[in-house]
Amino acid sequence: MPSTPESQQTVGKIAGFTGTALHTGEKVTLRLHPAPVDHGIKFRRKDLQDEPTIDAKIENLKTVERATTIGEGSVRVHTVEHVLAALWAMGVDNAIVEMDANEPPIGDGSAQAYVDLIRKAGVVAQEEPRKFFGARDTMHVESKTGALLFLLPDDKFRISCTQAGPNNKFTQFLSMEVTPAAFEREIAPARTFVYYEDVKPLMDKNLIKGGSLENAIVVRGEAVLSKEPLRFADEFVRHKILDVIGDLALVGRRIRGHVVAVKPGHASNADLARLIAREQTRRSAVAVSRAVPSGGGGLDTDQVMQILPHRFPFLMVDRIISFDTETKCVGVKTVTINEPFFQGHFPGHPVMPGVMQVEAMAQVASILLFKLAKTTSRIGYFMSADEVKFRKPVLPGDTIFIHAELTKSRGERLAKAKCHCVVNDAIVSEAELMFTFLDK
Ligand SMILES: [Zn+2]
Repeated sequence: MPSTPESQQTVGKIAGFTGTALHTGEKVTLRLHPAPVDHGIKFRRKDLQDEPTIDAKIENLKTVERATTIGEGSVRVHTVEHVLAALWAMGVDNAIVEMDANEPPIGDGSAQAYVDLIRKAGVVAQEEPRKFFGARDTMHVESKTGALLFLLPDDKFRISCTQAGPNNKFTQFLSMEVTPAAFEREIAPARTFVYYEDVKPLMDKNLIKGGSLENAIVVRGEAVLSKEPLRFADEFVRHKILDVIGDLALVGRRIRGHVVAVKPGHASNADLARLIAREQTRRSAVAVSRAVPSGGGGLDTDQVMQILPHRFPFLMVDRIISFDTETKCVGVKTVTINEPFFQGHFPGHPVMPGVMQVEAMAQVASILLFKLAKTTSRIGYFMSADEVKFRKPVLPGDTIFIHAELTKSRGERLAKAKCHCVVNDAIVSEAELMFTFLDK
């Protein structure tokens, strides 16, 4: 099948290489494996029992200090940005990145080693079209450190980046369209650079055992120290672009838009990735709401009531409008002024109580579980609600789109779900719910 930019791609065969891990200084072998369509990029820890995988998605982002760390449960992988940048920019949509340690080999501090690896594995087209996020309006994030990132509408994926060091030393600017060829030639060879003052304490604490002038450029005052001379006069801004690409890869879709980044860092890159992912979620909800099915695709009120034991005033879902997969669905609830809770919450200033939104999320998640278990002879009880956030008030007249995704179920008795509520294009609340099942 001929490769077109519009079809998903994976690697042609398994390929790997061995190198040094930056933080531990130990040997690590990284292997790329082909993966099916819509799989995305996942990391696999071959050194751990059961070889757990971690989805390279923004919701799994853990820390952004100096490098980007993702994780699921207690499993982590560190410093994922360069390998992700290479995969994304070289056009690989689906792959497993298998490693026998908690971070990839650092190589020479650039993405060159990963580009070489992808070349070795080959890139092959798959049967499904790619998924894109197209910027429609200007989106932007700003951080306390002075980072400023915009995403502007554009037919292509472009980055215009300004890098500036302390006291605006080493100020550099580069604007480019990111294509596989341009990435390979202009960006992949650009190495990590660090400021001596920043890494000195880490070196003293022995936290970067694998770090050396072989895999980073060290800037000390006016001096630029590295094993080999600078590869580009503006190598720093090129590496900044590399990191922006790697962090935005966590969106999990191709981006059509122009990223304008001023003094970007991993934290601000991640903020933009999160903003894009949320906007994507919102769009999916709106797209669904245009055509509310009342049959095959979802469940109508009667069907919901056959599954859930809840009744007025505690039935918090009117219908299920879609089942995206077996573990993912969207419910809808129209909130009217007649809801009993508005009478006391609060007189003259009606706001839907946050706990009722959590209840709505729990009910939608239960429907998924009952569907999976294929029985309604049991009843689900809430055990805990974590990461609960109420972002915006829900008012009479609002329609809530309740998204639920089962993330874990242990046997048939315990289950975990990630949920969020969307009103008028914005996420109003979110929570991670755990529940248990008991016989009625
Ligand atoms: Zn980097």
